[in-house]
Amino acid sequence: MTPPLLQYDHVTVRRGDQIALDDISLSIPAGEHVAILGPNGSGKSTFIKTLTRECYPSITGRPSGFRILGRDTWDLFELRALLGIVTNDLVAACTRDVTGRDTILSGFFSSIGVWAHHHVTAAMQTRTDEIIDLLEVAPLAGRRLDELSSGEARRLVIGRALVHEPKAIVLDEPTNSLDLGASHELREILRKVVRAGTTMILVTHQLQDIIPEIDRVVFLQHGRIVGDGCKADVLTPEALTHLFGVTVDVARRDGYYAAW
Ligand code: ADP
Repeated sequence: MTPPLLQYDHVTVRRGDQIALDDISLSIPAGEHVAILGPNGSGKSTFIKTLTRECYPSITGRPSGFRILGRDTWDLFELRALLGIVTNDLVAACTRDVTGRDTILSGFFSSIGVWAHHHVTAAMQTRTDEIIDLLEVAPLAGRRLDELSSGEARRLVIGRALVHEPKAIVLDEPTNSLDLGASHELREILRKVVRAGTTMILVTHQLQDIIPEIDRVVFLQHGRIVGDGCKADVLTPEALTHLFGVTVDVARRDGYYAAW
């Protein structure tokens, strides 16, 4: 049997004097699209930082662990090929005097930009062309990221994360700071990425980010998992009111959910 893509067993993460993740147990099988939904401060960034190894689980005195495909140790290069992680910090770091095409290509070298010592192969160029096509960014390929809109830049950084055909792409608040049109456009592109065979793990506080292809939603609140199930069961006004601490109503349209 294939081990789960991600397996958290009683994982607790402390940040300063705060408990940012509190006894999290969660299993995400390879191939399952999942959204982790929670309000600000619920531990979403910390969840991603356990994947990027910027945060480590604490020793709690009980059996606990965090495994990716059944293994608890990975070197960072292996991990980058396995999980394409796109955070807003990464998008900010990539927003430089580097063309769209080189931003995507640089995913092969875990760099920002392509440098003289990088050996770019024909296969890398072909994969970059495929990604440019998939993400519909041909008009942006020759433009500098620091001269693009946030939505355009984000799309190219997502492309950078796809170069190795990762098992999953992990997105942190992908529509953060995008306007209505740019958010819609990005979500529709993400649907294409998923339909092309990439698993999506989405971390967000926005209900609308949960694209129709994602069926499982995990609720995070005060560092704890307080809900986990299929969208239709968990995205109810009652559950969301409890999760966000304000009265929430829910609408559903074309497979998307929205709250107000
Ligand atoms: P979210 O991404 O959902 O907003 P975070 O993972 O950033 O939540 O934060 C979870 C908890 O950890 C919060 O209580 C937050 O105040 C705390 N926290 C986050 N970063 C730090 C830090 N660098 N030092 C101390 N506490 C932190």
